[in-house]
Amino acid sequence: MTGLADLPLREELRGRSPYGAPQRDVAVRLNTNENAHPVPAEVVDAVAEAVRAELAGLNRYPDRDAVALRAALADYLGHGLGVDQVWAANGSNEVQQQLLQAFAGPGRAALGFGPAYSMHPLLALGTGTRWIGATRGADFDLTPAHAAAQVAAHRPDVVLVCAPNNPTGTALAPATLAAILDAAPGIVVVDEAYAEFARAGQRSALELLPGRPRLVVTRTMSKAFGFAGGRLGYLAADAAVVEAVQLVRLPYHLSTLTQAAGRAALAHRAALLGTVEAVKEQRDRIVATLRRRGHPVADSDANFVLFGVAGDQARVWERLVARGVLVRDVGLAGWLRVTAGTPAETDAFLGALEEIA
Ligand code: PMP
Repeated sequence: MTGLADLPLREELRGRSPYGAPQRDVAVRLNTNENAHPVPAEVVDAVAEAVRAELAGLNRYPDRDAVALRAALADYLGHGLGVDQVWAANGSNEVQQQLLQAFAGPGRAALGFGPAYSMHPLLALGTGTRWIGATRGADFDLTPAHAAAQVAAHRPDVVLVCAPNNPTGTALAPATLAAILDAAPGIVVVDEAYAEFARAGQRSALELLPGRPRLVVTRTMSKAFGFAGGRLGYLAADAAVVEAVQLVRLPYHLSTLTQAAGRAALAHRAALLGTVEAVKEQRDRIVATLRRRGHPVADSDANFVLFGVAGDQARVWERLVARGVLVRDVGLAGWLRVTAGTPAETDAFLGALEEIA
């Protein structure tokens, strides 16, 4: 039988495994930061109708530039953004891959502040980009001085920074972003996948876009919108950045069905985003309860919580799985990450953890 080792695979891919959280068939799945609430019935109907209206036309390629969808996304984002400043793809992962293809790649480098989203270095790997693993401070914070010093030392072509950060949930202080923007010689991508879950008072990097053509903000419909299966991510940036990603995107990368579903979902965004407050409540309940029980817990502006456990986190993870609760072991010694889901899921998680921790 042929194995991977027999194939002329790129050297840097040898011995690697594909990205993905371990899936277990358990009742309570709180491991991938999805929105636990199903798509509301009115949105199901609207999406079904919109998709149906396109079916006879599937003999034709989709709108290559997804103009109507991008206009709807620009309208959602506000901040005076126009369709030429917004770009969409199959998840923000694909958007970020396109950004690396356009602005990084062989002979260039991208930098991120770990622990952060583990797909970022993998996107670098896939695009032949050298990855620079910069660090955060204790408590996973990122001070302006620490961030700027690392960016200045490495002068990466692309900086990727999550706001809030995954897996820690940590917000990005405006002063830190300002320091990164000042120090960075190239593109700065602010990954705002969880922006809609921020606590009151947090600012989006969208506010900083005017006059900053090297700043890119990526967003997704996978989290707050509860539309992860729809695979729609997007960016907002200077129109020139949108022109740049169009040089590397595959033609017709967004199917007619995806575009129609996305437009219909955005037309019903109030219904979709109606679950955000409920998710935030569960997040805050998890933070408060675990702190009361003496767990170290990182502040969270996202739909998940990073919490400390005594001893080996992999063992606690297994014991939670045995009780029907799947959380995420992100490989941080002594920490686990749990997604905030429904009240019943929070009950199950808190109950199971109390039994074993
Ligand atoms: N950025 C961050 C920080 C994430 O956590 C995720 C999802 N896990 C993504 C981007 C990618 O989301 P999607 O491709 O579904 O838009």
